[in-house]
Amino acid sequence: MLARARALAASGRNIIHLEIGEPDFPTPAHVVEAGKTALDEGWTHYGPTQGLTELRETIAAYINRTRSIKIGAQHVCVVPGGKPVIFFPMMALLEPGDEVIYPNPGFPIYESMIRFLDAIPVPIPLIEERSFSFDLDIFRRKLSDRTKLIILNSPQNPTGGMIPADDLREIAALVCDRDLMILSDEIYSRIYYTADSPLSIASLPGMLEKTIILDGFSKTYAMTGWRIGYGVMPEWIVPQINLLMVNSNSCTASFTQRAAISALTGPQEPVVQMVAEFQKRRDAFCRALNDIPKFHCALPEGAFYAFANVKATGWRSKDLADTLLEEAGVACLDGAAFGEFGEGYIRFSYANSLDNLVEAASRIKQLSRRWA
Ligand code: PLP
Repeated sequence: MLARARALAASGRNIIHLEIGEPDFPTPAHVVEAGKTALDEGWTHYGPTQGLTELRETIAAYINRTRSIKIGAQHVCVVPGGKPVIFFPMMALLEPGDEVIYPNPGFPIYESMIRFLDAIPVPIPLIEERSFSFDLDIFRRKLSDRTKLIILNSPQNPTGGMIPADDLREIAALVCDRDLMILSDEIYSRIYYTADSPLSIASLPGMLEKTIILDGFSKTYAMTGWRIGYGVMPEWIVPQINLLMVNSNSCTASFTQRAAISALTGPQEPVVQMVAEFQKRRDAFCRALNDIPKFHCALPEGAFYAFANVKATGWRSKDLADTLLEEAGVACLDGAAFGEFGEGYIRFSYANSLDNLVEAASRIKQLSRRWA
């Protein structure tokens, strides 16, 4: 979609980009400064495979504070982005034929990794009326002795939903005696609009030993291009992750790690301001989407995506997304690109200016006589 949108823009069309999954804010200035200083100081060589000790200690303290758990630097693996915390643990844990439960619609990498490893995808539909949490009846039915991994993602891409604490407690109760692991993708952990911060399943009794937390700097600190993220995991799996890491990357860039220390220990105002701005846009954009005939958009609780239900238009969501790009110049993503249960939805990223969001909604509204 991005390539098509850029091609149209290159041919002179005015395209509003609402398809992109990264904050439209700069990396906070003090983090950039820390990166520059690190380069000047010579942090330009290989570092330890698992990550700089100082950064791992900083991450451990941060995770203990934000998740109310107790882990140490030995549980932290620093890697180039959040994605390797999907790739490496799945490579380490899964054998062909193992079943993996994951959200659908969901981040597409989960399913492609499951298939790549000849494991068996077990998608669980997300329910719009339940803040896009799992259908727990289906979850209960699909849980089996062959389930080796459960992937959770909250706040969620593409829906902006958050898994309610009661659901997490129920999932924990269902799995606590089973021989399986949970991959808890918490990359949007700081981008939420609810009074309470998102709960991590790792903080529930008995779950720390079963959970790999994925988090990183890409979304929280607008650092997508720096490529840095981390996994927090039980100690027994760390050597396997280090083995995969040393054979593929050697280590995460050293100056990037120095900048990441500054991100976690420095002023957090840029994060607070970014989230406040996202919330303003969310409110205005969802209001405008709900004003478009046959569109319905639940108010997202986290991340920076609005997942609009367009089933009432009678159009396939792919056709609608194509038409919005070609005729309205609004680039967005077909919900079915995130899995079969995303059919009938369109994902709009509100990582764009309020003016552009208002303009995009107005263009879509003008086009709506095509389906109204
Ligand atoms: N997990 C989810 C749910 C995401 O949406 C993304 C990025 O879009 C990632 C993980 C990967 O993040 P990173 O860019 O740090 O690899």
